[in-house]
Amino acid sequence: MRLLLIALILIHQWALAEIKPTSLNQESVFYSEAQRYELKQDDLYVFNSIQQISAAFKLSGDENVIIKPLYDNVPEPFNNIKAMIKKGYGVDIVWVDFGPDRIMKTNKGRDFGGTKFLGYRVQNSNAILVQGIDESGPDIMKTIAHELTHVMQHNEPKLYEILKKFNNHVTKDYKNQLFYQLNFTRKKSNIELSKEDFEDELIAYIVGDCGKQKSFWLSLAESIESLPSGSFERTKLDEPSEIIIKIFIKWNEVHKLKKEDNN
Ligand SMILES: [Zn+2]
Repeated sequence: MRLLLIALILIHQWALAEIKPTSLNQESVFYSEAQRYELKQDDLYVFNSIQQISAAFKLSGDENVIIKPLYDNVPEPFNNIKAMIKKGYGVDIVWVDFGPDRIMKTNKGRDFGGTKFLGYRVQNSNAILVQGIDESGPDIMKTIAHELTHVMQHNEPKLYEILKKFNNHVTKDYKNQLFYQLNFTRKKSNIELSKEDFEDELIAYIVGDCGKQKSFWLSLAESIESLPSGSFERTKLDEPSEIIIKIFIKWNEVHKLKKEDNN
Protein backbone atom coordinates (compact mmCIF):
# COMPACT_ATOMS: atom_id res chain seq x y z
CA MET A 1 0.00 0.00 0.00
CA ARG A 2 2.76 2.40 1.00
CA LEU A 3 4.65 1.53 -2.15
CA LEU A 4 1.59 2.30 -4.22
CA LEU A 5 1.21 5.64 -2.45
CA ILE A 6 4.84 6.51 -3.13
CA ALA A 7 4.37 5.49 -6.75
CA LEU A 8 1.29 7.70 -6.95
CA ILE A 9 3.14 10.64 -5.45
CA LEU A 10 5.98 10.11 -7.89
CA ILE A 11 3.57 9.96 -10.83
CA HIS A 12 1.88 13.08 -9.53
CA GLN A 13 5.18 14.92 -9.26
CA TRP A 14 6.21 13.72 -12.68
CA ALA A 15 2.92 15.00 -14.08
CA LEU A 16 3.48 18.36 -12.38
CA ALA A 17 6.97 18.54 -13.83
CA GLU A 18 5.56 17.74 -17.26
CA ILE A 19 3.03 20.54 -17.26
CA LYS A 20 5.36 23.06 -15.67
CA PRO A 21 6.43 24.95 -18.82
CA THR A 22 2.87 25.88 -19.74
CA SER A 23 1.55 26.45 -16.23
CA LEU A 24 4.19 29.00 -15.31
CA ASN A 25 2.38 31.81 -13.59
CA GLN A 26 3.26 35.02 -11.82
CA GLU A 27 5.91 33.23 -9.78
CA SER A 28 9.54 33.99 -10.10
CA VAL A 29 11.86 31.41 -11.60
CA PHE A 30 15.47 30.49 -11.08
CA TYR A 31 17.72 31.14 -14.04
CA SER A 32 20.78 29.98 -12.11
CA GLU A 33 21.37 29.01 -8.51
CA ALA A 34 23.03 32.35 -7.77
CA GLN A 35 20.60 34.81 -9.30
CA ARG A 36 16.86 35.07 -8.88
CA TYR A 37 14.88 37.26 -11.22
CA GLU A 38 11.31 38.39 -10.93
CA LEU A 39 9.55 37.68 -14.18
CA LYS A 40 7.60 40.54 -15.65
CA GLN A 41 4.09 39.93 -16.97
CA ASP A 42 5.37 40.53 -20.51
CA ASP A 43 7.99 37.78 -20.08
CA LEU A 44 5.23 35.35 -19.20
CA TYR A 45 3.08 36.27 -22.16
CA VAL A 46 6.07 35.99 -24.49
CA PHE A 47 7.18 32.71 -22.89
CA ASN A 48 3.71 31.21 -23.37
CA SER A 49 3.53 32.50 -26.95
CA ILE A 50 6.88 30.94 -27.83
CA GLN A 51 5.61 27.58 -26.52
CA GLN A 52 2.31 27.88 -28.37
CA ILE A 53 3.76 29.02 -31.70
CA SER A 54 6.58 26.45 -31.61
CA ALA A 55 3.99 23.72 -30.99
CA ALA A 56 1.72 25.03 -33.77
CA PHE A 57 4.66 24.99 -36.19
CA LYS A 58 5.40 21.42 -35.07
CA LEU A 59 8.98 22.26 -34.08
CA SER A 60 10.88 19.49 -32.34
CA GLY A 61 11.72 19.62 -28.64
CA ASP A 62 15.02 21.49 -28.83
CA GLU A 63 13.86 24.05 -31.39
CA ASN A 64 11.69 27.07 -30.64
CA VAL A 65 10.88 30.41 -32.18
CA ILE A 66 12.53 33.59 -30.88
CA ILE A 67 10.40 36.57 -29.83
CA LYS A 68 11.79 39.47 -27.80
CA PRO A 69 9.68 41.61 -25.46
CA LEU A 70 10.21 45.38 -25.75
CA TYR A 71 8.90 46.17 -22.22
CA ASP A 72 6.91 49.22 -23.38
CA ASN A 73 9.98 50.83 -24.97
CA VAL A 74 7.85 52.24 -27.76
CA PRO A 75 6.76 55.82 -28.58
CA GLU A 76 4.37 57.27 -26.02
CA PRO A 77 1.30 57.39 -28.30
CA PHE A 78 1.47 53.62 -28.65
CA ASN A 79 1.43 53.19 -24.89
CA ASN A 80 -1.58 55.53 -24.74
CA ILE A 81 -3.32 53.14 -27.10
CA LYS A 82 -2.20 50.24 -24.92
CA ALA A 83 -3.79 51.87 -21.86
CA MET A 84 -6.99 52.51 -23.82
CA ILE A 85 -7.26 48.89 -25.02
CA LYS A 86 -6.69 47.65 -21.47
CA LYS A 87 -9.36 49.95 -20.08
CA GLY A 88 -11.85 49.35 -22.87
CA TYR A 89 -11.57 45.60 -23.37
CA GLY A 90 -9.35 44.24 -20.60
CA VAL A 91 -6.75 43.18 -23.17
CA ASP A 92 -3.00 43.52 -22.58
CA ILE A 93 -0.85 44.64 -25.49
CA VAL A 94 2.66 43.20 -25.32
CA TRP A 95 5.09 45.07 -27.55
CA VAL A 96 7.55 42.67 -29.11
CA ASP A 97 10.16 42.29 -31.80
CA PHE A 98 9.43 39.21 -33.91
CA GLY A 99 12.83 39.59 -35.56
CA PRO A 100 14.80 41.73 -38.01
CA ASP A 101 12.46 42.81 -40.79
CA ARG A 102 9.68 41.04 -38.81
CA ILE A 103 10.92 37.64 -39.95
CA MET A 104 10.66 35.26 -37.01
CA LYS A 105 13.51 32.78 -36.64
CA THR A 106 14.11 29.76 -34.46
CA ASN A 107 17.04 29.19 -32.11
CA LYS A 108 18.48 27.02 -34.90
CA GLY A 109 18.49 29.97 -37.25
CA ARG A 110 15.66 28.75 -39.44
CA ASP A 111 12.80 30.96 -40.54
CA PHE A 112 9.47 30.14 -42.15
CA GLY A 113 10.22 30.89 -45.77
CA GLY A 114 10.63 34.59 -45.08
CA THR A 115 7.11 34.89 -43.64
CA LYS A 116 6.59 38.12 -41.71
CA PHE A 117 4.94 38.19 -38.31
CA LEU A 118 3.23 41.28 -36.95
CA GLY A 119 0.90 40.07 -34.22
CA TYR A 120 -0.26 37.09 -32.19
CA ARG A 121 -3.16 36.41 -29.82
CA VAL A 122 -1.78 34.69 -26.73
CA GLN A 123 -3.96 31.64 -26.14
CA ASN A 124 -5.71 31.17 -22.79
CA SER A 125 -5.18 34.81 -21.82
CA ASN A 126 -6.37 38.32 -22.61
CA ALA A 127 -3.20 39.41 -24.33
CA ILE A 128 -1.90 40.11 -27.81
CA LEU A 129 1.68 40.43 -29.03
CA VAL A 130 2.23 43.32 -31.42
CA GLN A 131 5.36 44.12 -33.43
CA GLY A 132 6.36 47.40 -31.79
CA ILE A 133 9.42 48.55 -33.73
CA ASP A 134 10.21 49.28 -37.38
CA GLU A 135 6.49 49.63 -38.04
CA SER A 136 4.49 52.65 -39.15
CA GLY A 137 1.71 53.89 -36.87
CA PRO A 138 -1.11 52.78 -39.22
CA ASP A 139 0.43 49.32 -39.57
CA ILE A 140 0.67 48.92 -35.80
CA MET A 141 -2.95 50.04 -35.41
CA LYS A 142 -3.99 47.62 -38.11
CA THR A 143 -2.31 44.75 -36.26
CA ILE A 144 -3.99 45.73 -32.98
CA ALA A 145 -7.44 45.82 -34.62
CA HIS A 146 -6.73 42.46 -36.28
CA GLU A 147 -5.64 40.70 -33.07
CA LEU A 148 -8.43 42.30 -31.01
CA THR A 149 -10.89 40.67 -33.39
CA HIS A 150 -9.40 37.27 -32.52
CA VAL A 151 -9.79 38.12 -28.81
CA MET A 152 -13.43 39.12 -29.33
CA GLN A 153 -14.04 35.72 -30.90
CA HIS A 154 -13.07 34.05 -27.64
CA ASN A 155 -14.36 36.59 -25.12
CA GLU A 156 -17.61 37.76 -26.70
CA PRO A 157 -18.73 35.05 -29.14
CA LYS A 158 -22.23 36.53 -29.61
CA LEU A 159 -20.90 39.95 -30.63
CA TYR A 160 -18.33 38.20 -32.79
CA GLU A 161 -21.03 36.34 -34.71
CA ILE A 162 -22.65 39.70 -35.61
CA LEU A 163 -19.26 41.11 -36.60
CA LYS A 164 -18.56 38.11 -38.81
CA LYS A 165 -21.51 39.02 -41.04
CA PHE A 166 -19.16 41.58 -42.59
CA ASN A 167 -17.39 38.71 -44.31
CA ASN A 168 -20.19 38.99 -46.88
CA HIS A 169 -19.38 42.65 -47.51
CA VAL A 170 -16.12 42.07 -49.36
CA THR A 171 -15.70 41.17 -53.00
CA LYS A 172 -14.83 37.72 -54.28
CA ASP A 173 -11.50 39.14 -55.41
CA TYR A 174 -10.65 40.27 -51.87
CA LYS A 175 -11.53 36.82 -50.52
CA ASN A 176 -9.62 34.94 -53.20
CA GLN A 177 -6.55 37.08 -52.84
CA LEU A 178 -6.51 36.74 -49.06
CA PHE A 179 -7.08 32.98 -49.28
CA TYR A 180 -4.20 32.59 -51.70
CA GLN A 181 -1.92 34.75 -49.54
CA LEU A 182 -2.79 33.00 -46.27
CA ASN A 183 -2.61 29.53 -47.74
CA PHE A 184 0.80 30.34 -49.20
CA THR A 185 2.28 31.58 -45.92
CA ARG A 186 0.61 28.91 -43.76
CA LYS A 187 2.16 26.17 -45.88
CA LYS A 188 5.59 27.61 -45.18
CA SER A 189 4.79 27.45 -41.46
CA ASN A 190 3.54 23.87 -41.72
CA ILE A 191 -0.03 24.85 -40.74
CA GLU A 192 -3.24 23.94 -42.50
CA LEU A 193 -5.80 26.62 -43.32
CA SER A 194 -9.30 25.29 -42.66
CA LYS A 195 -12.48 26.95 -43.92
CA GLU A 196 -13.25 28.12 -40.36
CA ASP A 197 -9.72 29.50 -39.94
CA PHE A 198 -10.11 31.41 -43.15
CA GLU A 199 -13.47 32.93 -42.10
CA ASP A 200 -11.89 34.05 -38.80
CA GLU A 201 -8.88 35.54 -40.59
CA LEU A 202 -11.11 37.26 -43.15
CA ILE A 203 -13.05 39.22 -40.53
CA ALA A 204 -9.80 40.01 -38.69
CA TYR A 205 -8.37 41.47 -41.91
CA ILE A 206 -11.56 43.48 -42.53
CA VAL A 207 -11.43 44.96 -39.02
CA GLY A 208 -7.67 45.41 -39.46
CA ASP A 209 -8.38 47.63 -42.46
CA CYS A 210 -10.73 49.71 -40.26
CA GLY A 211 -7.87 49.96 -37.77
CA LYS A 212 -5.82 51.90 -40.30
CA GLN A 213 -8.38 54.72 -40.11
CA LYS A 214 -7.91 57.28 -37.37
CA SER A 215 -11.67 57.75 -37.19
CA PHE A 216 -12.07 54.12 -36.09
CA TRP A 217 -9.89 54.63 -33.02
CA LEU A 218 -11.26 58.06 -32.34
CA SER A 219 -14.77 56.64 -32.05
CA LEU A 220 -13.59 53.86 -29.73
CA ALA A 221 -11.59 56.34 -27.66
CA GLU A 222 -14.74 58.41 -27.20
CA SER A 223 -16.65 55.40 -25.91
CA ILE A 224 -13.82 54.33 -23.60
CA GLU A 225 -13.24 57.91 -22.48
CA SER A 226 -9.55 57.48 -21.97
CA LEU A 227 -7.49 59.02 -24.73
CA PRO A 228 -6.08 62.54 -24.43
CA SER A 229 -8.10 64.71 -26.80
CA GLY A 230 -6.47 65.56 -30.10
CA SER A 231 -4.75 62.17 -30.35
CA PHE A 232 -6.52 61.48 -33.59
CA GLU A 233 -8.17 63.63 -36.18
CA ARG A 234 -11.51 62.60 -37.59
CA THR A 235 -11.75 61.36 -41.14
CA LYS A 236 -14.78 60.32 -43.13
CA LEU A 237 -16.14 56.83 -42.55
CA ASP A 238 -17.95 54.51 -44.85
CA GLU A 239 -21.02 52.66 -43.65
CA PRO A 240 -19.71 49.20 -42.72
CA SER A 241 -17.04 50.52 -40.42
CA GLU A 242 -19.66 52.61 -38.57
CA ILE A 243 -21.35 49.37 -37.60
CA ILE A 244 -18.07 47.64 -36.82
CA ILE A 245 -17.34 50.58 -34.52
CA LYS A 246 -20.72 50.09 -32.84
CA ILE A 247 -19.88 46.43 -32.21
CA PHE A 248 -16.58 47.40 -30.58
CA ILE A 249 -18.36 50.06 -28.51
CA LYS A 250 -20.80 47.35 -27.42
CA TRP A 251 -17.83 45.20 -26.43
CA ASN A 252 -16.56 48.04 -24.28
CA GLU A 253 -19.99 48.34 -22.60
CA VAL A 254 -20.11 44.60 -21.94
CA HIS A 255 -16.58 44.76 -20.53
CA LYS A 256 -17.57 47.62 -18.19
CA LEU A 257 -20.59 45.65 -16.94
CA LYS A 258 -18.48 42.56 -16.35
CA LYS A 259 -15.91 44.62 -14.41
CA GLU A 260 -18.66 46.10 -12.20
CA ASP A 261 -20.02 42.61 -11.67
CA ASN A 262 -16.64 41.43 -10.40
CA ASN A 263 -16.32 44.27 -7.89
ZN1 LIG B 1 -5.16 36.57 -37.62
